[in-house]
Amino acid sequence: MDFPPPLIERLRTVRRIVVFTGAGVSAESGIPTYRDKLTGLWERFDPEDLDTRRAFKADPELVWGWYEWRRRNVMQSEPNAAHRAIAAMANHVPELTVVTQNIDDLHERAGSVAPVHLHGTLFQPRCIGCARPHALPPGMPDEVEQVVGYRLAPPRCGHCGGRIRPGVVWFGERLPRDVWRRADMAVRRCEVILCIGTSSVVYPAAELPLVAARRGAVLVQINPESTGLERVAQFNLAGQAGEVMPALFEAVWAQGQPG
Ligand code: NAD
Ligand code: ZN
Repeated sequence: MDFPPPLIERLRTVRRIVVFTGAGVSAESGIPTYRDKLTGLWERFDPEDLDTRRAFKADPELVWGWYEWRRRNVMQSEPNAAHRAIAAMANHVPELTVVTQNIDDLHERAGSVAPVHLHGTLFQPRCIGCARPHALPPGMPDEVEQVVGYRLAPPRCGHCGGRIRPGVVWFGERLPRDVWRRADMAVRRCEVILCIGTSSVVYPAAELPLVAARRGAVLVQINPESTGLERVAQFNLAGQAGEVMPALFEAVWAQGQPG
């Protein structure tokens, strides 16, 4: 794979980088993106109808069942070559921050340290009443196998008896302030931002690459399709993240080095 020499040169000396990821970085691990048609039990639902506080209030079993099904899907998946290349880059760049819109844990499992989860995670549910975190039992959620009529009752909070909700940011909810602050600070400081596998249409997350670009960062997009970011990106690398990222890593950091 050939990359523009100015991009390779820039990356060789970069000190602060943000890797901004969306559903596309996990697609090759078998986790469907939001634009992909839903499969299995959930085929007949529009995800936007499952991803709101109102939907949870109206039908907690439906929404909890959907999230437990997704959590199981993630637990059965493995990080791919893109997640691994991103984790490896951190050994070569003094300051690398992964900012992800994904609620899976594949960046962590590939070895990235403390990725910023803008939209929360599947693994830290909390009480809808008192907001205390709720510890999920270890291992796979087996009961998803027995989901009947798409429904699974959410556990109850040990403290107040309220229903446990997924630890994700739903449509219409604010991003947690500390999470947003970390992401905002990283994009303001970075010299290069790699935007991988995101359609970049959901705000405020989609604002982050634009902030970086306005402050002079080099914006690089990795995506097989065109997106709204194309106009602002200095470099558009068209392709699958699992192919482009390891090749880019190789071209910048692995060549000419022993071993
Ligand atoms: P997205 O599904 O909107 O976009 C995925 C992007 O990945 C697309 O641009 C696609 O071309 C690209 N892609 C697909 N395969 C790829 C591959 N192998 N390598 C590289 N790129 C690939 O996902 P998003 O941009 O992460 O969405 C942002 C946020 O929006 C999500 O975190 C979510 O919170 C929210 N969202 C939710 C819903 C919903 O209905 N629940 C719908 C849309 C967005
Ligand atoms: Zn509670």
